Amino acid sequence: MAWTDASKDRFKELWKNQLYSAVNIANILTKEYGQNITRNAVLGMRLRLNLPLRGISAEERAKTFTPRPRAPKSTKVFQRPPDQFFKVSRPPEPKQNDQDIPQAQRRTIFTLTSETCRWPVGEGESVFFCGAPEADFEAGRPYCPQHHARAHNRAADLKAEAAGRAA
Ligand SMILES: [Zn+2]
Repeated sequence: MAWTDASKDRFKELWKNQLYSAVNIANILTKEYGQNITRNAVLGMRLRLNLPLRGISAEERAKTFTPRPRAPKSTKVFQRPPDQFFKVSRPPEPKQNDQDIPQAQRRTIFTLTSETCRWPVGEGESVFFCGAPEADFEAGRPYCPQHHARAHNRAADLKAEAAGRAA
């Protein structure tokens, strides 16, 4: 038997069908191409074409033949996670109680210097300023780092609030 590209292709197709044994395929090809093709020729060609072996039992063969119910196509669409998901979380405000500011550090409006933090605490008569020495008013840093962070957060909060109201 001289194999042609067409008969090889036909062979591959038949081989893929698990229901055909090598003998079946040999018979089909013999009929279709009018040449005597033996089971051995079929198995030899399988090797040459490097097709996978199909060692399945008759039982499995029967199973393959049973049309299996198709898994229903999932109708789920990708859902966008809630907006919360995209929110960049800001670290919580550093725990700081202004009432814990030591008396010795506190400043009044009269004792503030450009190096002392101007964060106001309280209201009216009892108001005082943080007075931490890490500020540099002239350099545009009127607060100590802690109060700077809080001022920044407060500004961001107000901004977010305003944006929320505008929306
Ligand atoms: Zn401060």
